[in-house]
Amino acid sequence: MNNVYDLIVVGAGPAGLTAAKVAGENGLTVAVLERKDVMHDILRMCGMMLVTLSGKYMGERVTHNEKEGLLCFPHHGFNLKYDGPTKDFFSWEIHSPGGEKLVFGDYSTNRQKGKAGRASAVYSKSRLLASLVEECKRLGVHFFTGENVIDAQKSGEKVEIVTAGGKHFKGVFAIAADGRQSRIARTMGMNKNRGFYTSITSLGYEMTNLDLAHPDALHQPLFKSGDPPMMGFIIPRACDYEGEDVWLVMISNVNMQADHEGIFDAFTQQSRFAPWFKGARKVRKCGCTGNMYAPLFHPFKDNVLFVGDAGWCQEAEMTGAVMSGWKAGNSVAFAMQEKKYSEEGIQPYLEWWKTYYLDKMDYNIFLKNLYMPILCTEDEIDYLFKTIKETLPTALDPYEIPAHMGSAMAKIIPTIKEERPDLLEKIEKFGALPPEFVLRNTMRSGFHCNFTI
Ligand SMILES: Cc1cc2nc3c(=O)[nH]c(=O)nc-3n(C[C@H](O)[C@H](O)[C@H](O)COP(=O)(O)OP(=O)(O)OC[C@H]3O[C@@H](n4cnc5c(N)ncnc54)[C@H](O)[C@@H]3O)c2cc1C
Repeated sequence: MNNVYDLIVVGAGPAGLTAAKVAGENGLTVAVLERKDVMHDILRMCGMMLVTLSGKYMGERVTHNEKEGLLCFPHHGFNLKYDGPTKDFFSWEIHSPGGEKLVFGDYSTNRQKGKAGRASAVYSKSRLLASLVEECKRLGVHFFTGENVIDAQKSGEKVEIVTAGGKHFKGVFAIAADGRQSRIARTMGMNKNRGFYTSITSLGYEMTNLDLAHPDALHQPLFKSGDPPMMGFIIPRACDYEGEDVWLVMISNVNMQADHEGIFDAFTQQSRFAPWFKGARKVRKCGCTGNMYAPLFHPFKDNVLFVGDAGWCQEAEMTGAVMSGWKAGNSVAFAMQEKKYSEEGIQPYLEWWKTYYLDKMDYNIFLKNLYMPILCTEDEIDYLFKTIKETLPTALDPYEIPAHMGSAMAKIIPTIKEERPDLLEKIEKFGALPPEFVLRNTMRSGFHCNFTI
């Protein structure tokens, strides 16, 4: 076996496996290198919400055909097998430190509507990956697990991939699908001039027996504003544990030096939200740390295509990852057919990246999700949440949320002007402030590493 392929994929997440599947379907020889031993083990934390059924995320309206066990991407024109569990949830509720609520979607009304009223559903990343691996194997894709890739570089006409164990692989093209902390992006110098905003650590537990007024909702408690703020998330899980409902309970924090376990305990045992966890039981621990960069504006270098989180701002979500994997796999197949073994051959991928990601989803808007808890005091957040009396549209897309917030804020400006002119002055500055300014402290506390080795 000489380890030479048409395509080498690094990373067996949703992006890499979808790319490998599509390339395999087109008859290419494909190798997937993955550092985990078991590809469908989910070691890195994930909320597993289906982002999104609304039709806004990257212009796609994802559907889940439960009867046939398919996740369908009708606008893009493909589907993936998914016959695992799902669970619908009906609203996104953001809780201020003092107990006010900002709500996207009215829980009771949406719940009554059933599927038609859901904000979205949660599903199982593990089952999605297991199905993709199975399909790839059927298509003759070669898997190399337990292989930590440490280098990728052009070697003559091919790309050479090197693992920590000293193995060498060569491909006409390679796909870097190694996630948010992409080592390939770093070693190939892709992060050099890339905006860096922060590092975020999330720590959490899957827990049972929570006492929530709205159990089938996404809850986001802000339990300390400031710089950095402390945010909790409570997300229903699709799978039960010994017959009991399970939620992912997590805290996210941009202060890397913090005692994350201590913050989790403070959130669940001492904060205003502690009563929700009185009888709760921890089932499984999980966590992750990752950097938040600007997107790659040109996700290609030396015959390596960057897909999914490797080239995104923070994260592509599983749906974004599979869409970019699908397009990248197809583009490599197209380049091979056309015998265009260079950037010219994979133009469709670069065009897709620009049209569906860069042009449709402005990462500066995404970063604004972090503004309010950093810039406002707890008292100010309480006041704003209390003053926004309306229920905001049911939404889950992090690129859509700031727009809804913006229109809700616009409606309450006359009230704020009268009651809290100082706050209005502060808010008016918000829109104009660039992320580099608002996030300057989080940028300093993060672990940006842009050197090449
Ligand atoms: C706290 C949190 C909550 C989230 N919640 C949601 C959610 O609710 N819904 C949603 O859709 N998305 C969510 N996401 C995002 C989602 O997990 C990612 O966007 C998605 O998994 C990206 O897929 P990917 O294939 O690009 O990367 P990944 O899923 O990260 O896969 C990368 C793969 O590459 C492998 N790898 C990495 N480095 C190497 C190396 N050097 N050599 C070999 N292999 C390597 C990894 O082991 C991994 O298998 C969440 C993420 C976080 C952090």
